[in-house]
Amino acid sequence: MSSRVDLHLHTTASDGQFSPAEVVRQAIALGMTVIAVTDHDTTEGIAEARETARGSALEVIPGVEISTDVADSEIHILGYYINDQDAQLRRELEVFRKSRVNRAQGMVDKLTRLGLPLEWDSVRQIAGEAAVGRPHVARAMLQRGYVSSMDEAFHLYIGRNGPAYVERYKLTPVEALKIILAADGLPVLAHPLQSTDLVPQLAKSGLVGLEAYYTGYTPEDTRHLLDLAAQYGLLVTGGSDFHGQNTGAGSALGEVVVPQILPQRLAACHRRRQAQRVRTASPTS
Ligand code: AMP
Ligand code: FE
Ligand code: FE
Ligand code: ZN
Repeated sequence: MSSRVDLHLHTTASDGQFSPAEVVRQAIALGMTVIAVTDHDTTEGIAEARETARGSALEVIPGVEISTDVADSEIHILGYYINDQDAQLRRELEVFRKSRVNRAQGMVDKLTRLGLPLEWDSVRQIAGEAAVGRPHVARAMLQRGYVSSMDEAFHLYIGRNGPAYVERYKLTPVEALKIILAADGLPVLAHPLQSTDLVPQLAKSGLVGLEAYYTGYTPEDTRHLLDLAAQYGLLVTGGSDFHGQNTGAGSALGEVVVPQILPQRLAACHRRRQAQRVRTASPTS
């Protein structure tokens, strides 16, 4: 049986396989009650998802997953209830999208020099309207028969230490927190098992939660993250990181069982902050 709640998933607005409308229809068919659309570095999928869910029993929480870097690893920050109309947020995400194009072109150039020429147009076509990412490059490699799976493309060529890897435009985790908070979002550390050492610093900088339920996390992993969240007064969230079928990333929609109380707590936190903002903006007496 599928989880009724999934707070981490991708659509064709970033590197997911299904459009926002298709993901929403799948969630409704599974009898889910709450999902959050959390595309990489873009909020472009949110409007379509919410429109499709209108009138159904499914609630769609607007979200984003911002990519950041520290030393040798990638840290992803989820932003829930982000105001996708916020002008500053839109400008920041636009910079991201442009830098992703240059970076993907850089990877295509490197692959060509390695003797694996790709047409830039084929990568562009696979990405469609999406913020172009490594999975689109991997799919183009798969189409040309250079690799036998997406995973192989990552392992042999475009993984972080691969010969065709090119770094992204870099934001620090704290910068991502600031962008999310400035757009009225609630920042949550995504798949945090390998980055728990950052939690004390991020908690001081406005982090509100940890993703404690996640694809591949054991009950012990989750317990550890629940304890850590309690220690720092953080909320917890959870999700599958659904990207589609056979994409090598995440798991199936609703595959990770997420307690229904979690989105309720997240919503309550969001309502408190909104009320606080209204009070600050128009003080009475
Ligand atoms: P990018 O944001 O362009 O650096 O691409 C990162 C994305 O690539 C992740 O969010 C995953 O969706 C995907 N990814 C990472 N590792 C793998 C892998 N081994 N196989 C398939 N997809 C992967
Ligand atoms: Fe992804
Ligand atoms: Fe992620
Ligand atoms: Zn994700």
